[in-house]
Amino acid sequence: MEPLTEQQIRAAFLNCTKGEAKRLSVPRDLADRPWADLDYLGWRDPQAPDRAYLVTVLDGRPTALALRCPSPTAAQRPRGMCSICLTTPAGGVSLMVARRAGRPGQQGNTVGTYVCSDLACSLYVRGRKDAGPGARLQESLTLEKKVQRTVAHLAAFVARVTA
Ligand SMILES: [Zn+2]
Repeated sequence: MEPLTEQQIRAAFLNCTKGEAKRLSVPRDLADRPWADLDYLGWRDPQAPDRAYLVTVLDGRPTALALRCPSPTAAQRPRGMCSICLTTPAGGVSLMVARRAGRPGQQGNTVGTYVCSDLACSLYVRGRKDAGPGARLQESLTLEKKVQRTVAHLAAFVARVTA
């Protein structure tokens, strides 16, 4: 994806208030992120590790989600499979819960999915980060197809948040 600025990222949140989007933690090292190898940028709040965020570009528009990862002990499945990139990373997957956009979210509705705990899906798909032995399926798909599939899973999750 193309690099995004802090301002673009803060403006892209679908499921939190403008005030929350203004205050939430955005990485300071945006310029050093490997954007060309990312389908989305994901990060955790260093002050509140149960809060995670991700930003991607869908249909040409920056799109960001605020996520909660409820109690790691209960929610973390040590060798579960990530629903976004289909990796079973040695670092585990976490249940990431998003408040739904708009009125359903105000009424407390959420949707959740299991995602690589370190939010490094893009790097696992590209073999840029080692996910551990047996973490990736042996597939004859091209990298391009794997990337397309990852983006499709992410878009489907975003669609559940905005539905
Ligand atoms: Zn993943």
